[in-house]
Amino acid sequence: MTKFTILGCGSSLGSPWITNYWGKLNRKNKLNIRTRCSAHIKKGDLSVIIDTSPDIKKQILENKIKNIDYVLYTHEHADQTSGIFELRPFFWKNKKPINIYADKRCLKVLKDKYDYCFYGGGGYTPIIKGNVTKNNFILKKKNSRIKFKSFLIKHGSIKASAYIFEKIAYLSDCNGIDKKNFKDLLNLKYLVIDCLKINAHSSHFNLDQAIRISLMLSPKITILTNLHTDLDYNFLKKILPKNIIPAYDGITLNV
Ligand SMILES: [Zn+2]
Repeated sequence: MTKFTILGCGSSLGSPWITNYWGKLNRKNKLNIRTRCSAHIKKGDLSVIIDTSPDIKKQILENKIKNIDYVLYTHEHADQTSGIFELRPFFWKNKKPINIYADKRCLKVLKDKYDYCFYGGGGYTPIIKGNVTKNNFILKKKNSRIKFKSFLIKHGSIKASAYIFEKIAYLSDCNGIDKKNFKDLLNLKYLVIDCLKINAHSSHFNLDQAIRISLMLSPKITILTNLHTDLDYNFLKKILPKNIIPAYDGITLNV
């Protein structure tokens, strides 16, 4: 069995913001407290996280994640990567650099920005090893293995990576999918898709677009993520069809 957990489902500032701004969110509902987007995949001994958000330490502790074997990056924006330094204790635990995967361009940006994590320096040893994501790859540990598919999706002026594994697709930051990739998004059990806000946005799907994509691809369940402060949990539950649900931090899917 594979256990997939959405560790964080908030937009870049999370909710509430650092200024305690809640927008249209009901602050009495705990499901409206959202950390920045990242996710965890666990199958047997194998533990993989998608992105290292600024909230990763809290997310790892709250979800009792004991180890990290691999990190998959969707793209280099701060809300997906700036927790990268928190990988250090896992490097100590594993006694070897943690393999991270990103597309070629994103990996270059990460290496430039976080050079000390890749190359060490100032008395520190490298804690991570960069790998360029292939279209198809396998991650394994002992007897546990997961097959992944990856392709690039539009995210405003850059491309982000989509990851598909065990009938789950994770597209947390996206405002366009190339038609040629639709075939990889059919027959899904879970589609986790970017749904930033009600109004249109230049680098994220909005609510109407996310619903349209869901109807087109018809996965068993669609889970909306990267939710901004105008998308209250109960409001979404009320207006969405049964098979489209808003994410909340810590929601777990078993496949
Ligand atoms: Zn982004």
